[in-house]
Formats: sequence, structure tokens, C-alpha cells
Amino acid sequence: MNKINIDIIQNLIKDEINNYQDQIALDNIGKVIAIGDGIATIYGLKDAMNGELLIFNDNIYGMVMNLEEDTIGAVILGDDNQIYEGDEVRRTGKVVSIPVGKELLGRVIDAIGRPIDGLGEIKCHDSLPIENNAPSIMDRESVNEPLETGIKAIDSMIPIGKGQRELIIGDRQTGKTAIAIDTIINQKDKDVICIYCAIGQKDSTIAHIVEKLKTTDALKYTIIVNASASISAPMQYVAPYAATSIAEYFEKQGKDVLIVYDDLTKHAVAYRSLSLLLKRSPGREAYPGDIFYLHSRLLERACHLNKKLGGGSITALPIIETQEGDISAYIPTNVISITDGQIFLNTDLFNSGQRPAIDSGLSVSRVGSSAQIKAMKEVASSIKIEIANYLELLDFSRFGSDLDQNTKNILRHGAVLMEVLKQKQYSPLKMEDEIVDIFIAQDKLIDDVPIDKIHDTLVNIDMYIHKNIPEVYEEIKNTHILSQENKDKIKQAVINVRTGMQQ
Ligand code: ATP
Ligand code: MG
Repeated sequence: MNKINIDIIQNLIKDEINNYQDQIALDNIGKVIAIGDGIATIYGLKDAMNGELLIFNDNIYGMVMNLEEDTIGAVILGDDNQIYEGDEVRRTGKVVSIPVGKELLGRVIDAIGRPIDGLGEIKCHDSLPIENNAPSIMDRESVNEPLETGIKAIDSMIPIGKGQRELIIGDRQTGKTAIAIDTIINQKDKDVICIYCAIGQKDSTIAHIVEKLKTTDALKYTIIVNASASISAPMQYVAPYAATSIAEYFEKQGKDVLIVYDDLTKHAVAYRSLSLLLKRSPGREAYPGDIFYLHSRLLERACHLNKKLGGGSITALPIIETQEGDISAYIPTNVISITDGQIFLNTDLFNSGQRPAIDSGLSVSRVGSSAQIKAMKEVASSIKIEIANYLELLDFSRFGSDLDQNTKNILRHGAVLMEVLKQKQYSPLKMEDEIVDIFIAQDKLIDDVPIDKIHDTLVNIDMYIHKNIPEVYEEIKNTHILSQENKDKIKQAVINVRTGMQQ
């Protein structure tokens, strides 16, 4: 009696084990039933998770995006031409991750961390999932340290703080990328790690940027994540999340990170195309319903962590391209509402030679001014309003010829100010140089110089001060203050240079 029972039980257990293995095989290996446009429909991966990494034919990666009753939809993170209907797909049980570490510095990688700069393998010891929850409110600290862009117009009027999200927005070819790259170049010797995430850009543009970063010695602290226009939509979709995970790796070590997303318009377009291919229902402008969440869950990851968590920060500079300056379109308004301010670039200003073409009226920084240093706050406090006055009177003055002296003065000063705020590409300035230039303009020391001579005059004055009274810069650098004594020295320097120039 006892013996029979044991046999039955033994067989039952054996059967169960065999069936269990069959069951696992069925759950972990699926078959491609349709493939095209970087999207695969797969049958059989019953327990696959959303966002899980899949392996096609043992060498191509994919990511689960759609979970349906009998099938799943996955995007291919690689070349879909090598995948055919009937091919085998395996689950990995892991979400899509990216290798992270300081080994990435100075390198160009694709959206899943593979090197694409021809400089050989990158041996990272860690990896992080590409999606991560944003730090909670209690984990954050207020933005209280400036992130210097080295661009006079931005540091004075639209200051950015470490941990802030500041949008760069403008039409095509208005200098959006230029601002981001200059900001990266300006982080030299400032202990800030920079990540430039290119989405849907031309490979030639990226090659040019890499070259520029190399010659300005900025590549060594920069990582470039490139999902160019020639790469599939899924890779473009994944790139900014992966880049942010790399940023978080450094942030958790207490470091300051600057991340540029160039640009999120193309990111939204990539997401729209893969959503439509996955047969998700389209909404406004054919974007899927979760398009706002797409960018909010990305940008919420940028912040300034509190001291307990190491005090690291991620400053995000997303870029958005507008059409005909329309900032009220769907994607621009979404991203404006997610960020802490925007730098708006104006095509007319750009074409008239005002570069960087920052529209001071439409640009704003909602948190950065609390991070501005005292001397800058003092000299720059009225620039925005003075430029607004100037532009308003400029329109008005076109109609009447008889202007009173006060109006003439405002127009004059405004024109000088605009001239002083012009700045060449790839020439970011130190904070102390910016403050001295702005002080000279705002104290009306060069208001009577002809407009076409402003630039040269300012260059001469700067050279003179550097040579004869360098303590002015030292004071600002060390104490963040521009004292009355040094202001007087600057005034005297301006007089000396100008009388010297006239002779
Ligand atoms: P796209 O929409 O094509 O991405 P963009 O808005 O990123 O363009 P950039 O590529 O940065 O614009 O700049 C457009 C052109 O303007 C480039 O040729 C660049 O060299 C030039 N440029 C940008 N900023 C300045 C500047 N401050 N001074 C002079 N030229 C500039
Ligand atoms: Mg650009």
C-alpha cells in the first residue's frame, strides 16, 4: 500500500518537473510573427514585462513596448533587416540598461552604450536601467549655485542654476545648439560632467561638434550619446533616457552634471512614429496620448539632490525647435510647462546680426536668479527692463522724427547694451569678465561711443584692466562682490583707454 503511494507521488513529481520546464520554455522563447519598420510582433512571451530587454537571434536587442492578449509588440534596438518572421526571441528578465562609468568620458556612444567613435571597446563595470524614478521632493534641495554658461546675455538676464531645467527654444538655425555647446565648453576646470545627447541630428553635425569639443579641450569631461537621423526611431526614443541614467550615475556620487537634449522635438516625432507603428491610437497632431508623460518623466529626473544624498545635481538643457516662432504649438507648450524657464531665440534678431539671438522679453529663468552671485545681481538687475524699454521705443521712434532727449538717451543706451551682449560662438567668458563688461555698459561709461566701435572699445578696455588692475577680477572671483573702490578703478580705466584711443 505504502509502496504504490510513493510510486504515484514520484511520477507526479517527475511529470510536474517536466511540464514545468516546458512551461518555462514556452514563456521565455517566442517567435516573430511580423517584422518591419523597427517593430516586431512576437507570439509566445506570455510573461514578458513592459520595458524588458529581448534578444533576437542571439545578437540583436529589442525592448517590449506593447503587451497584448496573445502577442507582444517590441521595438528593435539595432538593425531590423537581420530579423525575419519565424525567428526566435528570448526574454532576459531584465529591463533595458546602459553601461555607466567614467570610462565613458570623452567617448561617443549609441543609445544603448555601444561605442561609435572607432576608439575601441569601453569597459564599464556598472550598468543602470534606462528608466528610473525621479527623486522625490524630500530628496531634493533648492537650486542655489550658478551654472555658468559663459554667455553674457544668459548669465546676466536668464541665469541658470545647478539642478535647473532650462529650455532652449527657437526656429531652425537660430543658434540653439551653439548655446548648449558653448555652455559645455565653459565647464572646463569647473568639475562639471557634461553629456550631449543628440537625437535625430545629422552625423556630420555631430562630427563637427566632437571636433570642436576636442580642440577646446572639453571632450575629456563630456560624453556624447548619439542617436542620429540615420538611426531607427526606437534608438532615438531610448537615447535621452539612457543619457539621463549615465547622468544619474555621476549625480549619485555627488557630482554636478550638465545634460543637453538636442532636440526633444525630434524625440517626440520618433516616439510618434513608433507609437503609430505599434498601433497606439493617435491624438492631437497624431501624437499618442502619453506624449506629455514622455518628456515630463525625463525632465523630472534632473534636480539638485540634498546633502544627505551627496548634493549632486543634474542640470538639463532640453532643446525644442519651433516653426515660425510658434511657441504655442503642442510639443513646445508641453516642454515649456515642464521646465523652469526658457531661452527663446528669435530668427529676426539672428538675421539682423544680434547673436546670440536671445529674445529677452520671452525668455525667463524661474529659479536661477537665486543662484546668481551678488556682483552679477547688482550690475545686471535692470538690463531686461532697459532692453524692453528700448525695443518698445525703437518701434515707436520709427514714426516720429522729433524725439526728446530722454527718449534719445534710452534708445542710445539700449543700442549700446544690445551691442555689449553680442558674443561670438565658442568664446564663453569667465563670470568676472562678464560682470566687468556689463558694469561698463550699465554705468553708461561707453554710451557716447559710436555703435560700430563698441566692440573694439570694449576689447581694449578689457585688455587694459587685465593688464593694469587685475585685482578687479580677483575680487569678483574670490568674494563675489564688485566694491566701490574697484568700480572707481574701472571708471578711470575706461577714461584712460578712451583718451588713449582718441590720440
Ligand atoms: P538647427 O535648427 O539646424 O539645429 P540651431 O538652432 O541649433 O540649428 P546652430 O547650428 O547652433 O543653430 O547655429 C546656426 C548657425 O549660426 C551656425 O552656422 C552657427 O555657427 C551660427 N551661430 C550660432 N551662434 C552664433 C554666434 N553667437 N555668433 C555667430 N554665429 C553663430
Ligand atoms: Mg541644432
